[in-house]
Amino acid sequence: MIKLRKLDKYYNRNKSNEIHVLNDISLDLPSTGLVVLLGPSGSGKTTLLNVLGGLDKVQSGTIQFDETSIGHYSSSTWDKIRNREVGYIFQNYNLLNHLTVYENISLTLNMIGIYDKDEIDRRIDYILDHMGMINYRKRKASQLSGGQQQRVAIARALAKNPKVIIADEPTGNLDSKNTQDIMNIIKAISVNKLVVLVTHEENIAEFYGDRIIKLSDGQIVSDEDNRSSGTLDTRHEADIYLKDMEQITELTSDQSTLKVYTDEELSEPINVRLIVKNKTLYIDVDQTNVKKLQLVEKDSEVRIYDKKYEHTNKESLDIKEFDLESVIEQETSDIDKHSVISVKDSLRIAWNRMKDATRLGKVFYIGFGLIAGLIALAIGMGNSFISIDKDSYLNDSEYLIRVRREDFTYDDFIALTADDSIDYIRAVDSISINALLPKVFQLRDTESAFSNQIESVDKLSSRDVEAGRLPETTFEFVIDQQVADQLLASTNYKYVGIDSYEKLFELDYEATMMNLTYELTLVGIVDNQTPLMYMDDNLAYSLYYGVGIYEMYEDQITLETGDLPEGDELLVLDGSQVDPIGNLVIPVKQRDYEAVGTFSTTAADVPQILIRKQDLGVAYFDLYNDSYSSNVAVIANDVDNALSYLDSQGYTATSYANQMLADYQNQRISQGIGTITFIAIVLVASAVSYFFVIRSSLLARIYEVSVYRALGVSKLDVHKMFLTETVLITSLTSLFGYALTTWLLWRIQLAVDDFTEAIQVTPLSVIAGVLIIYLINIVSGLIPVGNLLRKTPAEILSKYDF
Ligand code: ADP
Ligand code: MG
Repeated sequence: MIKLRKLDKYYNRNKSNEIHVLNDISLDLPSTGLVVLLGPSGSGKTTLLNVLGGLDKVQSGTIQFDETSIGHYSSSTWDKIRNREVGYIFQNYNLLNHLTVYENISLTLNMIGIYDKDEIDRRIDYILDHMGMINYRKRKASQLSGGQQQRVAIARALAKNPKVIIADEPTGNLDSKNTQDIMNIIKAISVNKLVVLVTHEENIAEFYGDRIIKLSDGQIVSDEDNRSSGTLDTRHEADIYLKDMEQITELTSDQSTLKVYTDEELSEPINVRLIVKNKTLYIDVDQTNVKKLQLVEKDSEVRIYDKKYEHTNKESLDIKEFDLESVIEQETSDIDKHSVISVKDSLRIAWNRMKDATRLGKVFYIGFGLIAGLIALAIGMGNSFISIDKDSYLNDSEYLIRVRREDFTYDDFIALTADDSIDYIRAVDSISINALLPKVFQLRDTESAFSNQIESVDKLSSRDVEAGRLPETTFEFVIDQQVADQLLASTNYKYVGIDSYEKLFELDYEATMMNLTYELTLVGIVDNQTPLMYMDDNLAYSLYYGVGIYEMYEDQITLETGDLPEGDELLVLDGSQVDPIGNLVIPVKQRDYEAVGTFSTTAADVPQILIRKQDLGVAYFDLYNDSYSSNVAVIANDVDNALSYLDSQGYTATSYANQMLADYQNQRISQGIGTITFIAIVLVASAVSYFFVIRSSLLARIYEVSVYRALGVSKLDVHKMFLTETVLITSLTSLFGYALTTWLLWRIQLAVDDFTEAIQVTPLSVIAGVLIIYLINIVSGLIPVGNLLRKTPAEILSKYDF
């Protein structure tokens, strides 16, 4: 059945306290019978038993279990063999105290793939009935006496019908009566199975053993079949055998009999009066000569036999034949796919553990919630660094790219828009627009309204519109919400009662540049989180340069003399100047434009000087080419593509928005070093505290883990069990604290204006926080579990047995 060859095992190998606990052990064990490992304490019995039962590993030697040969200790191979073929009985029972008798046993049946309730009931009932334990099926293991617990442990070992039962001092904690009962059961089992029993009690070995292997200092010193006739002292401490005592008094009358027995000579007489009154016996004892009084009633521990005590001998041994095979209908099925402990069970167990936690444990759970609250705070702070609104840093177009190159030429300037990603060259800066306010005492009738960067209306879509509409004609314009809000907040506007977007629309606006004045209409407010104004391109050029744009009036004029303008040329309104052609040169932004023709018009409001838009842009090129770090600014449809295109063309290109964001973040971060330190400390502290809390909860559960592992529950299953528990605890404590804090922060964020500068809660940050919490808890929770499970079941057991 089991063959051991040349097993060697050391503790503390190559250290001063080295113990050669198994010294060249070779053994062949049969498939039935009771083999006893006998030896003094420390001789290596437990170690040998654990090794042959797959709970521990050796440093050298081979073990053959049935057909399987196990050279190097492999926990998964052993898990399988242990599951099916080995039943364990320990000195301290090792039951799972939070489970009932029935559950303790059915667990091991689940482990070998038996889930059929009828099959489970048949086996459990047969065994429990055999042991007189059938009425305790639903009792929690923790509510049983020692002898009862050991019966349940035996039932657990037997239920799966293993080939081998190993039992390590199973009666070590029991009184003599229970010892005898338990040993009788074990003896009965050994009729059909191999039972390997460890004991240091010679009389038990000799009375029950079929074969006795004596160990000393890790070596087998004798190995013989047991032929001794053997008797067993089964006397109970409290039992009284009258025939072994001296009868000193016997009084008999018609109404009563009185007998006095003693186990020793009485030096002084004892005086007792017995009185019967109202069917009650009063015993009046003169206590000077007795130490203690004890009444023997129906249910007392003390039993009185009217005979001599006799040692039990083998012939009188009452062994009930035990045949589990007769009730087994369903054999072991494929166990690999099954999880012994279902998620539902783990949840139930975890919940009970939480509910029944000690006061300290509950303090920890509250601590989890508080830490999670801090994490929510830290994540909100971190998030405020990352998710910054455009409006907190961007004061110009987000499509703006500053472009620069050595030897930047006019042709380069013109060629810049060649790529699709670049929309247009921005040859216009900010423009001032005045509002015509109602006349109010002491107030000017025009008030400066806007002075902002301009962007083309082409960049807007109707999706951006917050109020009003997009421009439809040349002289209509729209502004960003930020610009409007700023205006509405100013005292002068409030003073005259302009307090809504609608009232802004009702105002008249005008823009003046040099001799040029346009009347403008504000028709809409857009929301692009950038303080820009949006108007027709040509209008913007015209206002910026203070001259008319030829393209705006092309259809409304007639050429009178000279030619149409080309390059650095312009047209002049007929009659506005004397003989302009050839003599008139107008500098626009330091570039000279020469009059080449005159025009007439029937339309009103046509500016006196017209220049082509593109030619004006060139003036901008002149202006900025040398004096600025960037040669020119372009507006891009797609900033990223434009950047890489410009880069490929040898330009140094910087996205204005990216740069502003980086500057702003740097500034925020240098201001927020304290915050960042706080975040780091909270995250590290929470990881560390979870690690220690789970570790200490694990220490408290090493017993349970050791039992699971000893019974053959796979490491994966134990991991899953702890994972479930960690997730449950996290969900009920951390998540609760996190949710509560997040909700509070959210409410504050809604109520307090600039709160998001410090702490910002967004859906994404909330989800990220939840993930971080679970990650921290699960990782720091499972590390100690993983560390523990790397040990052999015996090592885990010895960790528990202090
Ligand atoms: P027995 O069961 O016969 O009392 P054990 O097999 O438990 O003996 O122990 C044999 C020897 O090995 C003892 O001296 C014991 O102190 C030592 N020992 C047992 N387990 C360990 C361990 N995990 N680490 C170090 N020494 C151990
Ligand atoms: Mg031992």
